[in-house]
Amino acid sequence: MPSDETAPHVLVIGGGPAGHSTATAAATYGARVTLVEDQIIGGASHLWDCIPSKAMISSSMRLRAIRTASILGVSEPGPVTIDMARLSAHVTGIAGKLADGIISMLGSQGVEMLNGRARFTGPHSALVVTDDDEIEVTFDFAVIATGSRPRIPDWVSLDGERVITTRDVYHLPELPEEIIIIGSGVTGVEMVHIFSSLGSRVTLLVSRHHVLPHRDAEVAYVLEEDFLARGVQLLKGARAAGIERNGNVVTVSTEDGRSFTGTHVLLAVGSVPNSENLGVDAAGFAMDGGYVVIDEYQQTSVPHIYAGGDITGRLPLSSVATMQGRKIAKHIMGHEVRPLDYRKVSQAIFTEPEIASVGLEEVDAAAEGRKVRITKVPFAANSRALIQGDTVGFVKVVSDPATRIVLGGTVVGHHASELIAPIALATQARITVDGLVETLLVHPSLSEAISEAAE
Ligand SMILES: Cc1cc2nc3c(=O)[nH]c(=O)nc-3n(C[C@H](O)[C@H](O)[C@H](O)COP(=O)(O)OP(=O)(O)OC[C@H]3O[C@@H](n4cnc5c(N)ncnc54)[C@H](O)[C@@H]3O)c2cc1C
Repeated sequence: MPSDETAPHVLVIGGGPAGHSTATAAATYGARVTLVEDQIIGGASHLWDCIPSKAMISSSMRLRAIRTASILGVSEPGPVTIDMARLSAHVTGIAGKLADGIISMLGSQGVEMLNGRARFTGPHSALVVTDDDEIEVTFDFAVIATGSRPRIPDWVSLDGERVITTRDVYHLPELPEEIIIIGSGVTGVEMVHIFSSLGSRVTLLVSRHHVLPHRDAEVAYVLEEDFLARGVQLLKGARAAGIERNGNVVTVSTEDGRSFTGTHVLLAVGSVPNSENLGVDAAGFAMDGGYVVIDEYQQTSVPHIYAGGDITGRLPLSSVATMQGRKIAKHIMGHEVRPLDYRKVSQAIFTEPEIASVGLEEVDAAAEGRKVRITKVPFAANSRALIQGDTVGFVKVVSDPATRIVLGGTVVGHHASELIAPIALATQARITVDGLVETLLVHPSLSEAISEAAE
C-alpha cells in the first residue's frame, strides 16, 4: 500500500471486473486499497462466465469453420473431432493467466490482496476470514462487488455431472450426446451454439414465443433459423417444471405435462446476487430483493459504501461492472463523474451469427412511440461477406430523423461484436449518419455495410 497514511483507505469486497477495476483505479488516484476475493482475482467473469464461455465458443467456431470449409473450396483433412480434456484445459487455464497479470499490476500499485471472505462488522469495519486467519479491517470507504451466481429453481437437484449449470460445462469429461438446455436468454442461446457446434444433439426449451424474449423478434428469428438448420430442437411455450435423473438418462417435464429425455440437462435461467453473509445489517445499507440499492454514483444508502457489478441488479455485464468500478474510484477520490448511461452500453451475444447492439433499438423506439429513421443493409450484399461465405445477417442503424444523429444500431452477422464499435462510437459521440457515410473505409470489408446502412 502507498506509505501516505493520510490517503483514504478503500476496502473492496470481490475481485471480479467491478472489484479489480475499482481497486486499480482507486490505487492510481492515490488511495490505500485492500481487495478481498474468496476465489480468484478476475472473479466469476474469468472463472465461469465471460472468458471460459467465449473460449468454448471460439473452439466450437473453429471446429464448425473446418467442417464447412468446403464451401470455400478447402477439403477437410479427415474426420475432425473435439478433445474434451484439451478443450477443458484451454478454457479453464485462461483465468489463471489473466489473474497473474492483474495481480502483478495490483501488486505494483501497492494494493493489499487478501484471499478470503469478507463481511461487514460495522459501518467502517469488516472481518476477513481466510483459510488460517481472521483479519479485522477498518476502512474510510468500502465497495461491494460480490457478483452473482446461477439461479437454481427449488425443483432442481444439481449433480454437477448430468444436471448442470454453466459452471459445470467447462469440466465435462465427455461431450454430451443429447443435451436439453432450459432457458433461451443470452446464456441459453450461447450454450446451444457451443454444444450444437461441438456435435451434441440439442433440445432448447423456450418458455415464450421466441428465443431472446426481450430482444427484437427479427433478431431472434435469424438465430432460430440457424439453430433449426443445425438440427436443434426448439420447443416453444415449454416451461420446465421438473428434472429426474435415472442412470445416464435425464427427463425434463414441463408445466403443460410434456416430457423430454436426454443424457444431460443444463440450466440457464438467470442469476441471483451474492449478498448472503455480507453483514448488511452491521453496515446498515439498503437492499432490495437481495441486490444492493445504489444511486447514479453507485453510492448505497450509506454514502461511504458503494456497490458495483452484478450485485447492484443493473445491466449484468463485465463491461458495465468495469466501467462502474472506475467511476466509483473516481467518485471516492473526489473527481468529477458522469453517471453511466446504460442506454449506450454495447452488448453482444456470441452465437453464429453474432448479435450485437447499442443504444436505441427499433423495439425500444416503438415501445416509446418515438419517431426514428431506420436504415438497414443485409450482409448478402457485402463483398467481403460473400468472399468469406458469411452472408447471414444485417446491419441496422437507428437515427433521429430531424438531426440525423445516430441513436443506436444492431449488427447480426460474423464479427458483429467487433463491428458494433463504430456505431457505439457514433452513438456516444453524437455523430450523424452523414458522418458515418463520409468515413472512408477499407474495401472489401464487412464494416462497409455500416456506412451503407447509415445512408
Ligand atoms: C455464462 C455467462 C457468460 C457471460 N458472458 C459475458 C460476456 O461475454 N460479456 C460480458 O460483458 N458479460 C458476460 N457475462 C456477465 C458477467 O460475467 C458478469 O456481469 C460479471 O462477472 C459481473 O462482474 P462482478 O465484478 O459484478 O462479479 P463477479 O465476476 O461475479 O465477481 C465477484 C467475485 O466476488 C467474490 N465474492 C463474493 N462474495 C465475496 C465475499 N463476501 N468476500 C470475498 N469475495 C467475495 C466472488 O467469489 C467472485 O469471485 C456472462 C455471464 C454468464 C453467466
